[in-house]
Amino acid sequence: MESRLVAWHAEHAADFPWRRRRDPYAVLVSEVMLQQTQTSRVVPRFEAWIDRWPTAEGLAAAGLDDVIRAWQGLGYNRRAVSLHRAAQQVAAHGWPEDLTDLPGVGAYTAAAIGRFAFGAHVLPLDTNVVRVTGRTGVEFGPAAAEALMDLGREVCLARVPRCGSCPLAGGCPSRGRRYEPLRKQSRFEGSFRQRRAETLRLVAERARDVQELDGAAVNSLLADGLLQVEDRRVRLPV
Ligand code: SF4
Repeated sequence: MESRLVAWHAEHAADFPWRRRRDPYAVLVSEVMLQQTQTSRVVPRFEAWIDRWPTAEGLAAAGLDDVIRAWQGLGYNRRAVSLHRAAQQVAAHGWPEDLTDLPGVGAYTAAAIGRFAFGAHVLPLDTNVVRVTGRTGVEFGPAAAEALMDLGREVCLARVPRCGSCPLAGGCPSRGRRYEPLRKQSRFEGSFRQRRAETLRLVAERARDVQELDGAAVNSLLADGLLQVEDRRVRLPV
């Protein structure tokens, strides 16, 4: 099965900008962006980010206010704060042996950096990889990581897999099955997440008096280190 997958991937591999750079910083940035944002939205933002801050040292030296501004629109802004802290840690001490020591880096992101930047013998288990391995029942090796990710994203889709185009269809026990969505994504419109995003957007434009803003959203953003308050003026942290 794995050789069929690898042969398919030789012709169908996605050409993402982070795959052209294999350094750990680029993999870290891409993986943090991809944690909760669609790939198509991440591509231009990743390219702009790397143009502006091509190294961990460059990002570490940036002001947190600029980093938060540059993150606007990607959502889940805490990721920007963690990424900035991670870059500062790397700039000061180098890449840690245990990558989960870096802020915002969990087991999956550590495995992805290990695999794609350092060549570690580990298979990063993102949702696509888990789905394909679960449906096929095959234990793929680390070399199949990107092929599994691409197959899961383009062919072995969550609800209606495209089994007719799948290189693994011949030996797959799940071939032809349909799947109900596990859960609906929570609505963004009218949510507290939206109130936080709008509050952060207003403060990213300019510092504002606390009374102009949504108090609950300000408190929540303060707790995440995304805002600062001084003399009742709310601003981005620097
Ligand atoms: S045959 Fe269908 S269910 Fe099986 S891996 Fe391929 S796309 Fe997924």
